[in-house]
Amino acid sequence: MSEMKECCYCNMDIPSKARICPYCGNDPDYIGSDAHKSRKNAEKFFLIMLAFFITVACLIFAMGA
Ligand SMILES: [Zn+2]
Repeated sequence: MSEMKECCYCNMDIPSKARICPYCGNDPDYIGSDAHKSRKNAEKFFLIMLAFFITVACLIFAMGA
């Protein structure tokens, strides 16, 4: 399930979600447009989750009131 990517500094295989390479401590996404894309997707996913939780919270509040 966990995807791997190659660190652009030390070329070690690291988890694709890793923001800091566990081997060399650098940002493995510094180079490459794919990283930007996945970061954008992560932001979008976070916003969707946030909207979802707000909706659920409103529903719970509406039911409780
Ligand atoms: Zn590295």
